[in-house]
Amino acid sequence: MKSTKQTSISSVFKPYLRPKTEYKGGKNAPAHIEEVVKLSSNENPLGASPKAVEAYQKAATGVQVYPDQTAVRLQEALEQAYKNELPQNQFLCGNSGSELIDLILRGFVREGDEVIFSNPCFLPYAVFSRWYGAKLIDVPLKDPDYSLDVENILSAVGPKTRIVFLTSPNNPTGTYIPKAQIDYLLEELPGDVLVVFDEVYWHFADAEDYTTALPYVEQGYPVISINSFSKTFGLAGLRLGYAYTTDEIAAYLRQICKPFLVPGPSIAAGIAALEDEEFIAKTVRTVLEGRQQLELAFVELGIRFWPSQGNFFLIDPPLGEQELTDYLLEKGIMVRPVSAFGAPGKVRISVGTEAQNTRLIAALQEIIVG
Ligand SMILES: *Cc1c(COP(=O)(O)O)cnc(C)c1O
Repeated sequence: MKSTKQTSISSVFKPYLRPKTEYKGGKNAPAHIEEVVKLSSNENPLGASPKAVEAYQKAATGVQVYPDQTAVRLQEALEQAYKNELPQNQFLCGNSGSELIDLILRGFVREGDEVIFSNPCFLPYAVFSRWYGAKLIDVPLKDPDYSLDVENILSAVGPKTRIVFLTSPNNPTGTYIPKAQIDYLLEELPGDVLVVFDEVYWHFADAEDYTTALPYVEQGYPVISINSFSKTFGLAGLRLGYAYTTDEIAAYLRQICKPFLVPGPSIAAGIAALEDEEFIAKTVRTVLEGRQQLELAFVELGIRFWPSQGNFFLIDPPLGEQELTDYLLEKGIMVRPVSAFGAPGKVRISVGTEAQNTRLIAALQEIIVG
């Protein structure tokens, strides 16, 4: 007999946790393609630092013991990597950049609070904010260059605004926020609004007026940076990320970091990855050269693209977004349509190795030139 209790439990489900749209996973490349070129997730085409992988494997022999309670060794390695500009207690480590976004929301958002973000942008800002009952305020990037609409962000701020998300370089547009704009925005924002500054692609930014969140955190603004080991460091499978912020905010958020949060092998790999400057430099070089290679090809093929400071490009595809994605998949090249990110009809393509880029360019050429 069916219990009547079963019919009532859904009445206490949180209304904002009901899914709006169902997630549709991507398709796989055809089986006959031997080497699939994955340009769909902005991963490192060189793989991971061999030193990080070695450290991970070595640490695997000790998995019977609990890791450091607070990942303090990784915080200390971060202090080193940041040339002692910030003390270790201003770093927070977690199981990916995405998890840290969730941690921040858990710490700051009450039901009915407002969070501001600017589409097209990284999906988790909106998706995770909904889990806490936040009201989502989208102040879209400006048309057609996808620059930040600082004035409209400031007009959208009210007494319920808790968080403003900024991303530089931004995913999926590849655009960045010039330093002067951030200076102005932070000057104008009320002191009780937290700025979450997502800078996971900062290694690839070479614009003269690019800045990370570091100078603002050092000046004591209520800013927290989001960083990840998934992109430059090539450790996406490990789920490792970090944030840095003022000592006040770091101490507050550390209270809700679960003990033993970051696995020991991940801590070991993260430390080795930070120390492997040679691998970081090689990665950056590969991306900057690849960006040039792809830019030239896009210009030559007449494909509209947005200048990128990341390891990927947003393009206006020569076919429909799904058509192009399916076509390239048939050739063994995976790319990402980004309508769900707020860029309808556009496609995001990660920068690969020179050989991978060449394969992509050849496939695009076939469409356009025939
Ligand atoms: C990839 C990415 C992240 C974090 O990725 P994790 O794998 O969760 O560490 C955060 N922000 C942006 C904009 C990203 O593209």
